[in-house]
Amino acid sequence: MDVKQWLVEAPPIEVLRPPRCPCCGAASRPAGASVVLHGHGVRERMMLGPEAPSGEARLQVAFCRRFRCTACRAVVLVVPRPVLTSRRYTANAIALALALWGHFADSAEAVRERVAPGRYFEGGWRSLHRWIRAVAAGALFPGYVGVGVTLAGVRLREAARRIGSWLAGFAPATPAEGPVGEALWALAFRGGEHAP
Ligand SMILES: [Zn+2]
Repeated sequence: MDVKQWLVEAPPIEVLRPPRCPCCGAASRPAGASVVLHGHGVRERMMLGPEAPSGEARLQVAFCRRFRCTACRAVVLVVPRPVLTSRRYTANAIALALALWGHFADSAEAVRERVAPGRYFEGGWRSLHRWIRAVAAGALFPGYVGVGVTLAGVRLREAARRIGSWLAGFAPATPAEGPVGEALWALAFRGGEHAP
């Protein structure tokens, strides 16, 4: 579902209800029985970063839905694809930042201008280092270290280059332009939301 559909109001419960509870695996709408995953309110999630690879950095709010499981009592938040757990920047924005910094010798400040809305500027932009350490620790894009890759002893900028290349590999082909000829940073942007 296009992220724009989350910006004015939360998409309908029926559209967002997961088929199964991600915690206990119970079917959310078992045939002939009552609903197991109930709508449990709307929560706002901040999304920082550009909407398109060369777009302007923005702050947007997505209206997300919570569901409550009557089988295991878990509360589940359903968010649009670019939103990452406990991060304000979108997966696309983080992927773009790492690819730009790692591959194109841009300064951290230049990357920040592409990715961070003005009021979120912080000195030297420590976010880049924080993200690389989080990837190395398996806390961000856990699929990267999940396949046995290690970033131990790798310099931060080289780590950003490697992670950026990996993220670019998840960009879906588009009928209009296709991955061939598209800049690596743009591929990384589009791949970020699909990376495991
Ligand atoms: Zn459950």
